[in-house]
Amino acid sequence: SHESKSNFIHNEIDNDLAQGKNGGKVLTRFPPEPNGYLHIGHAKSICLNFGIAQKFNAACNLRFDDTNPVKEDVEYVDSIEADVRWLGFNWADEPKYASDYFDQLYEWAVKLIKKGKAYVCELTAEEIAAQKGTPTEAGKESPYRNRSVEENLDLFERMKNGEFKDGEKILRAKIDMASPNMHMRDPIMYRIIHKHHHRTGDKWCIYPMYDYTHGQSDFIEGITHSICTLEFEVHRPLYNWFLDQILEGEPTPAARPRQIEFARLNLNYTVMSKRRLLELVQKNIVDAWDDPRMPTISGLRRRGYTPESIRMFADKVGVARRDNVIDVALLEYCIREDLNKRTMRVNAVLDPVKLIITNYPDDQVEMMETINNPEDESMGSRTLPFCKELFIERDDFMEEPPKKFFRLGPGLEVRLKSAYIIKCESFVKDANGNITEIHCTYDPETRSGMPQSERKVKGTLHWVSARHCIDAEVRLYDRLFMDAEPDGHKDVDFKEFINPDSLKVLSNCKLEPCMKDVKPLDKFQFQRLGYFCVDTHSSPEKLIFNKTVGLKDSWAK
Ligand code: ATP
Ligand code: MG
Ligand code: MG
Repeated sequence: SHESKSNFIHNEIDNDLAQGKNGGKVLTRFPPEPNGYLHIGHAKSICLNFGIAQKFNAACNLRFDDTNPVKEDVEYVDSIEADVRWLGFNWADEPKYASDYFDQLYEWAVKLIKKGKAYVCELTAEEIAAQKGTPTEAGKESPYRNRSVEENLDLFERMKNGEFKDGEKILRAKIDMASPNMHMRDPIMYRIIHKHHHRTGDKWCIYPMYDYTHGQSDFIEGITHSICTLEFEVHRPLYNWFLDQILEGEPTPAARPRQIEFARLNLNYTVMSKRRLLELVQKNIVDAWDDPRMPTISGLRRRGYTPESIRMFADKVGVARRDNVIDVALLEYCIREDLNKRTMRVNAVLDPVKLIITNYPDDQVEMMETINNPEDESMGSRTLPFCKELFIERDDFMEEPPKKFFRLGPGLEVRLKSAYIIKCESFVKDANGNITEIHCTYDPETRSGMPQSERKVKGTLHWVSARHCIDAEVRLYDRLFMDAEPDGHKDVDFKEFINPDSLKVLSNCKLEPCMKDVKPLDKFQFQRLGYFCVDTHSSPEKLIFNKTVGLKDSWAK
């Protein structure tokens, strides 16, 4: 269990408990619509709702808000369950589905009709929009508003029985076309959609709207605190109105849900609406929902994020009452903090150039001991093979180095990490002017434990043995969008801001041999380069790594 810091919603719940509301019970829910994969914004809501359950020794339901068969799919249901579990949370008993409540919702709709609080309307969506009025000007009443109860009951039943086409009729609540709250101006409760539903099949051709479904589903499950994002604040009177209507004439229930709003998570340099994310997938701008550049939970996982880092992020962002935009750098900070503690430091050369130690015995191999993680002694140490032929990074060598270049160049000395101090004597170029070999001599007295091992040189380089290393592909990522708010431009489509260089594939990388048995999602720090994670499509035949995030200061060592 991971306790989060206190927030205003915790205080509200404390107050409700102190007043003895809901019989002293707390029950929350996380209610995704299965129309896409979860993203980091959902992660915030998950951490908040399940965090409350943990804090109050209560439970949190997972409820699929599956009221629109047009956009929903079991693929999404499965991915949502997997992502919530992966984040470290467990819902109370079986997952719930709003579609399980369709019969009850229908009965309550009939109850509303009988009370004269709902009517069948035949206006089109456009006509309704045109008659809605403005916040300062009353809307027009529908010509169907004063149908008799009998006629409404008959029409609603015939809607259910499939006698009408999509869009021909709707059921509307009869509230107040002059309400200053636009959501109270006879909102739609049901629409006709002749479409197969992933759970109810062809049983229904009328589907309830979000506003009519949500509060009633909360009530059916005994949810006490229904937490949602701020844009639903204006829906709250309607949430309460529907509950008042269905509860009228009933005995006082043991618990009545209460909606509380908080600020949604906004992150810069990305888009977060599922509609936009789906578009990126469908137009092949990214390779899938779990592309490591996506802000989805599955994308972050594949990128190398840990559940701990995402929970830490949610906690640091906090729970506010006012919208703001969080810098993606905070998310990166959280994963760095976590990986710094848990990952082994290994040697990987991403852009290799051959280095030959001319005075090293031809067939000799030495095993060099190296510490796995200086942050955690318990992670122990390992050895890596050293021989006459090595690879180092191409950009760790300059033919004509400027002053303060503490790497390799003609006549310069560096330390090879966990091994010797070497000195560059010469280099070889091909016909195109590319450096193909760097020739060095080593100082045998500078291995650790040797007399000269404390001798100071300015730079330390990582390296691998050219005779023992293994091959890998490494994928480097940059932001998917070049604009901090790609979705925030009125006349420009968000796709205009796609970064054409957000993925760079390096296919000739060399890793130290200890990495030959890595498994998908294993995580490492590549010395001096950053944190990297084994891709989900990696195999022993073709190792693939994703760069998770860089080190704060790449050249600190
Ligand atoms: P999207 O706009 O991405 O489609 P949504 O709100 O329609 O998101 P739902 O599946 O309905 O997606 O969301 C499930 C829950 O997650 C809701 O309670 C919603 O308020 C919450 N949620 C969605 N996006 C965010 C966000 N950016 N920050 C915090 N909570 C969010
Ligand atoms: Mg929603
Ligand atoms: Mg949505």
